[in-house]
Amino acid sequence: MPHTKNAATQAFWLAGRQATGDDTLDVTSPWDNRLVGTVSVPTPAQVEEAVAAAAAVADEFAATPAHVRAAALDHVCRRVTERSEEIAELISAENGKPMKWARGEVGRCISVFRLAAEEARRFNGGAAQRLDTDPGGVGRLALTRRFPRGPVLGIAPFNFPLNLCAHKVAPAIAVGTPILLKPAPATPLSGLLIGELLAETDLPAGAWSVLPVPNDRMPDLVADERLPVVSFTGSAPVGWSILDSAPRKRVTLELGGNGAAIVLGDYASEADLDWAAQRIATFSNYQGGQSCISVQRVIADASVYDRLVPRIVQGVEALRTGDPSDPATDVGPLVSEDAAKRVEAWVEEAVSAGAKLLTGGTRDGATYAPTVLEDVPADTKIGCDEVFGPVMSVTRAEGEEQAYAMANDSPFGLQAGVFTHDVQAAFRAQRQLEVGGVIVGDVPSYRADQMPYGGAKQSGVGREGVQFAMEDYTYERVMVLTGL
Ligand code: NAD
Repeated sequence: MPHTKNAATQAFWLAGRQATGDDTLDVTSPWDNRLVGTVSVPTPAQVEEAVAAAAAVADEFAATPAHVRAAALDHVCRRVTERSEEIAELISAENGKPMKWARGEVGRCISVFRLAAEEARRFNGGAAQRLDTDPGGVGRLALTRRFPRGPVLGIAPFNFPLNLCAHKVAPAIAVGTPILLKPAPATPLSGLLIGELLAETDLPAGAWSVLPVPNDRMPDLVADERLPVVSFTGSAPVGWSILDSAPRKRVTLELGGNGAAIVLGDYASEADLDWAAQRIATFSNYQGGQSCISVQRVIADASVYDRLVPRIVQGVEALRTGDPSDPATDVGPLVSEDAAKRVEAWVEEAVSAGAKLLTGGTRDGATYAPTVLEDVPADTKIGCDEVFGPVMSVTRAEGEEQAYAMANDSPFGLQAGVFTHDVQAAFRAQRQLEVGGVIVGDVPSYRADQMPYGGAKQSGVGREGVQFAMEDYTYERVMVLTGL
């Protein structure tokens, strides 16, 4: 909760410089509630200052040479690498994420800044098109380049507090467009750290701000015409309301999901089932299941179901739950006790509606035990909504067609995993599954930062992934030369 400023308060980044506001936000560890940091909250006037500075510097930043922008991105990449352990500890402290996953997130952030530096050097080389294919085009040539749409408002969630901020910031710098980053109020420290590293570069003042604004103090930036691009990652209701209030903007929505892992009948050897079960057990529960592409639904062919499910249960029961700072911990707390209580209520609802609890189903403070449910009724919360906790349902399918139909029977469509060796089945999965990504031979939770990443249906619109965000932040303008 906001309270008055104290000496240890961390400044935020306003148009490239440190600033403090008139209020503060405490950041506490979901594991033991200790105070991890206190950050200053910008006033509405300071937010306005950041927007005005971004608009004012947009042309200058767009004209900044690619080598300068790439060098800044290289610098952040290098500094995150040098400080990786400390940054992993920061993520783990503010988010409750076990160190093994926090280290992975730091590695992903390094990759995002490296990719952005590479793309900054490649981007906008220009393309020439001959126009003399029609008589009216004789003597003409079209040259196309991409130009920034204008300053970007990047809004990030709590569950990857560093890397999802990196996915907003790095592509903006790569194309030379100002960015206002709003990290999640529960986890603002990692986003502020990106600001600290950007402050070590020569990027123009005004080109970036990191504004830890709590939800109830959020000015209506979404509707502000000086910010023509909104890149939002977070929950579906908030995301779609943003699109409703900014229908003419370029809005990218990276929203929730209830990822399916499909195990087909050909994936039947002992080694196949061991691999599938181990991946499913791990990636239903990593980060306490608080990933938009964690495994929530397991759909297994009836011919392998009875051999697969006990392996999954065994894998889940082998996970170590506990202190996120312990390197051996697999599953830490959820972001808050309230979040864990919500998951608990959803599991109870499913069980009272007839679901069978195969393991888990207990809560200790903010920590919810990794849980496997069977026969979850479709009309329960767990049956149709995003649980965002360490809970999976397992279901039997009669063949490939039914498995894909069951996977599609969801309002969401982010990614799906299909365990099969059958190339034709893999192509059918890519054609039939209503998702943004199909991962063959693994869980839906796989993501590489250069891939186009995003959802179908309620999971969002647009694609992230460094070069796709760069395209999103810019538009093509063609110049036709005449008289050649
Ligand atoms: P959230 O929607 O509560 O918050 C996300 C961000 O939006 C935060 O910074 C929050 O302060 C801000 N926000 C909230 N209300 C706002 C408003 N009215 N206007 C502008 N900004 C507002 O989500 P969360 O709880 O932080 O994150 C969890 C959700 O994010 C899950 O649904 C998860 O699936 C989703 N997610 C999606 C992806 C993806 O790439 N598809 C990745 C990670 C998380």
